[in-house]
Amino acid sequence: MAAMAETLLDKVWRAHTVRMLPSGQTQLFIGLHLIHEVTTPQAFQMLREAGLRVRMPERTFATVDHIVPTASQHRPFGDPLAEEMTVALVENCRAAGIPLFDLESGRQGIVHVIGPELGLTQPGMTIACGDSHTATHGALGALAFGIGTSQVRDVLATQCLAMAKPKVRQVRVEGKLARGVYAKDVILTVIQRLGVKGGVGYAYEYAGAVLEAMSMEERLTICNMSIEGGARFGYVNPDATTFEYLRGRPFAPPAAAFDRAVAWWRSMATDLDARFDDVVRIDGDTVQPVVTWGINPGQSVGVEERIPDPERAPESERGTWREALGFMGFKAGQPIAGTRVDVAFIGSCTNGRLSDLRAAAEVARGRRVAAGVRALVVPGSQAVARAAEAEGLHEVFRAAGFEWRRAGCSMCLGMNEDKLQGREVCASSSNRNFIGRQGSPHGRTLLMSPAMVAAAAVTGAVADVRELLR
Ligand code: SF4
Repeated sequence: MAAMAETLLDKVWRAHTVRMLPSGQTQLFIGLHLIHEVTTPQAFQMLREAGLRVRMPERTFATVDHIVPTASQHRPFGDPLAEEMTVALVENCRAAGIPLFDLESGRQGIVHVIGPELGLTQPGMTIACGDSHTATHGALGALAFGIGTSQVRDVLATQCLAMAKPKVRQVRVEGKLARGVYAKDVILTVIQRLGVKGGVGYAYEYAGAVLEAMSMEERLTICNMSIEGGARFGYVNPDATTFEYLRGRPFAPPAAAFDRAVAWWRSMATDLDARFDDVVRIDGDTVQPVVTWGINPGQSVGVEERIPDPERAPESERGTWREALGFMGFKAGQPIAGTRVDVAFIGSCTNGRLSDLRAAAEVARGRRVAAGVRALVVPGSQAVARAAEAEGLHEVFRAAGFEWRRAGCSMCLGMNEDKLQGREVCASSSNRNFIGRQGSPHGRTLLMSPAMVAAAAVTGAVADVRELLR
């Protein structure tokens, strides 16, 4: 009898199943555990209190990202809490023998940027990290998911987790993206169509001509925001783009073993005749630059569109739409283009990679940041910063009036010195526009692609980047 066709999720899940638990969950082996300074101090403390040690330090890697300042990184940090968290991570890693990519390593950066760029993230792996945006790593064909502090403790102690197997929805993006339309616009469109809770209980398998044509960095942007659509997992099947991306990276298999690894990685891809629990199709030709107008990443419109009327929202969402309009100070029917911005932020694990900075620099080149706008470019990692500087992108940004910062999460969330003030409006390439996310309880976030952020920075308002690229 022919073997049943399987999805990548089926195959990777099966390969990592230790046993079925009486609860109906699976005891899943975790191939790679990525840790950072924010969600680990308590987990290590719980481990010590239970008299346990880190079970597999060789499968655990650490970085500092959330709380590091990006203007000056001299130690001790100005913020005593940031300094304390960093010291705790250094000590915990030293005691357990966990490799740490600290500020002196040359490899530090946002956890979801450095995993792929170092070749730690590989197809067919299970990857856990105490951060919601861990599905990013699924771009390479891994099953990657965010976990809470008590689960961080569990993985440190056992290298396993009790997990319920999700269903799989294939999200097919067909056709071709127009110039000025980016991966960020695609994933914001997916979230807008399927809703912020549409993916609950699902893994999203992203496929179709648009995904096949994307670079690895673009796929990372797509998978990164899976959780914003409710899906804890998001992945793209590994292909030639994946293998070429990984070749030669520090933790990728060495040349002698690489071809063998590729054969196994290829075998983990979804079978052609596999069945999905659901399939959704999106026409890539119709995707336009997207901007959020509300307080969750599903509340968005195309840049040519107007802010929608809550009276036309599905009944279950009317209240949130009204709340969003009230908080943002917008009126239904108002065009999103032309909305004045105070701050422009280019960075984060969604859009802080080299190709993102190139796209933003293409817009910034030869222009000036509008009067009254504070504009920041924050590379996702030290490696991204070096590569961008080697191309002279930092000079392009500086000449245009942007601040060129050091690697970290920065203004993606208000856990470091980079924060919105008061009611400021921020054009942001990050992933969450929740109330208070960027550090001010009254600050307002408009999510968009890095090129759109650059367009907003130089015009002082939400603008259609396609007009600046002509
Ligand atoms: S950049 Fe933002 S979403 Fe990404 S890891 Fe940092 S805080 Fe989390």
